Amino acid sequence: MKVTDHIKDAKETLFSFEILPPLKGKSIQSIYDGIDPLMEFNPKFVNVTYHREEYVYKERDNGLLEKISIRKRPGTVGICAAIMNKYDVDAVPHLICGGFSKEETENALIDLQFLGIDNVLALRGDSIKTESSFRPHKNGHSFAKELIEQVVDMNKGNYLMDDIHLEPTGFCIGAAGYPEKHFEAMNLSTDLLHLKEKVDAGAEYIVTQMFFDNQKYFDFVKACRIIGINVPIIPGLKPIKSMNHISFLPKFFHIDYPEELSKELLKCNSNEDVKNVGIEWGVHQSKELKKAGVPCIHYYTMSNSEMVKAIASKTF
Ligand code: FAD
Repeated sequence: MKVTDHIKDAKETLFSFEILPPLKGKSIQSIYDGIDPLMEFNPKFVNVTYHREEYVYKERDNGLLEKISIRKRPGTVGICAAIMNKYDVDAVPHLICGGFSKEETENALIDLQFLGIDNVLALRGDSIKTESSFRPHKNGHSFAKELIEQVVDMNKGNYLMDDIHLEPTGFCIGAAGYPEKHFEAMNLSTDLLHLKEKVDAGAEYIVTQMFFDNQKYFDFVKACRIIGINVPIIPGLKPIKSMNHISFLPKFFHIDYPEELSKELLKCNSNEDVKNVGIEWGVHQSKELKKAGVPCIHYYTMSNSEMVKAIASKTF
């Protein structure tokens, strides 16, 4: 079932979450161990992230370095199928432009359709670590909007290269939004215009980047509505988990902590202290968002469902 239909059918705020494929070589059980504790909150869909290749250098016997491409977290499509089969919930694979030609994207979408997957979250992806800025595949997409256009084309039965009309796919397409602006955007206004382009191209709902200040989400939704973005905007929340997260999250995700939260974090001396603050803040954010009637709250578990469970049990 489509994410947008789940939202339409819902009488109250839905619960959903995102998981990462396990590191290569780990079993699917690690995925189930992360999902099991969260099933009591009746998620209607579970997102599975996509992780593109990275380059590493390996020293060879002759002393020379060889550049090797590796994928540390493969398996997004298979995990989606396994989740749908085991839990009877919808799985939403993340689909990225980076590293994919248009043909590979088309083939991936055909696989997803065969598996009965009705939703995709269409993203550009980040640059790989060895590149200073995002470089698209030479026959791929530069922006998420173009990927959305390709999925919409397939939804109309227009595949690449074939002039004939083929079996239409039926994907519901989500896109990413950034209440504190995407880090590459000139400013929030231009970022919002590009977000509107994604919606005009066919994105039917938006999932936001994590934020810790609900006011930023409320302002973002308001700004979206003013420029005519009228699709559901699902807030994404991430519990802060460790001392390392205190600086890592703002640095990596380009977000700020509100003053009240940063004051609490400054008092922390251990990971346990941070976890407690993270749960308390997550509950505070979740309750306020739920009260405001948001369609769904989407949690970034980042392989830690224990904290999401602690927050959800006080919210849902
Ligand atoms: P886009 O919408 O293409 O935007 C990228 C930048 O380009 C923005 O600054 C935008 O303003 C600008 N832009 C857009 N169109 C134009 C244009 N025509 N001209 C000039 N500038 C333009 N990454 C992964 O690799 N795997 C994942 O599974 C994953 N999941 C995510 C889930 C969510 C909910 C979110 C919020 C992010 C996720 N990401 C993931 C990260 C995402 O790939 C990065 O944030 C990426 O840098 C941008 O992706 P996007 O889809 O927002 O890109």
